[in-house]
Amino acid sequence: PVRQTRAVATGPAVTRDGVRVRILVNAAGPAEVRAGLAAGAEGVGLLRTELAFLDAPDWPDEPAHRRRLEPVLELLAGRIATVRVLDFGGDKTPPFLQGISERGIALLLGQPEALAAQLRAIGTADGIRVLLPLVRDAADVEAVRAHTTAPLGAMIETAAAAARADEIAAAADFLSIGTNDLTADVLGVDRFAPGTVATYDPRVLAQIARVGEAANARGRVLEVCGEAASDPRMVPLLVGLGVTELSVGAARVAETHAAVRALDSGAASELARAAVAAPDLAAVERLLGEAGH
Ligand code: PEP
Ligand code: MG
Repeated sequence: PVRQTRAVATGPAVTRDGVRVRILVNAAGPAEVRAGLAAGAEGVGLLRTELAFLDAPDWPDEPAHRRRLEPVLELLAGRIATVRVLDFGGDKTPPFLQGISERGIALLLGQPEALAAQLRAIGTADGIRVLLPLVRDAADVEAVRAHTTAPLGAMIETAAAAARADEIAAAADFLSIGTNDLTADVLGVDRFAPGTVATYDPRVLAQIARVGEAANARGRVLEVCGEAASDPRMVPLLVGLGVTELSVGAARVAETHAAVRALDSGAASELARAAVAAPDLAAVERLLGEAGH
């Protein structure tokens, strides 16, 4: 029957031994959300709100945020909508912020009115989750709680934040690893370097493992929303390290779903443990090959 077929295509991804892994889509606007849902994503795992405002002349006000958010939230209609507050700074610096050195939530906490305006526009409807970029510590999360009752997720994107994963997990409702920035920070490489598979590096995997332990000890959902989530060979390592949600580009949703369905979670945990202990990236790749990935 048609309804059953649809449920399989759009339902949660489950490993061979019955562990559910939620597949979500990364998006900047409605087109990617539509494509992700059509491919079977359960919702949005990362809405990059700053991308709509890279040419903005000043901090966006509440109506400007509403105009951008409404078309996305309409499509989701109560499904998971993980809205990241503006992640300005670094490679995402509009003209009015030229020359600033702060990034992410640190920058935004210095502009409490701009933060409050965006949080009012995001609201607290069913399915809404708020994601905080480049969280440094529990205090960052607590400062945002003063402005909203929506569930708060902390992005772990630096080795310093990973070292504080336990206190951050205690303060946040869920965690999300930004593997693009985390990999660059841990290895001291440019995140835009072409053709890199550096996420397999055991030094990066060790940081992910640390965050996984903290999230699982506190009973928190652990998402990965960086590019690593959409690499089918990273999927067994991530699930093996305690990741429960993978957020990927719309074009990768179906493939990621299939990668999860092919997994045994026990074997993935063993593989991940061995990978964290491996001497280098090449050794991790050998382990993956031996395990048939
Ligand atoms: C990341 O750093 O992995 C991430 C998801 O955030 P962005 O790519 O937008 O910096
Ligand atoms: Mg990032």
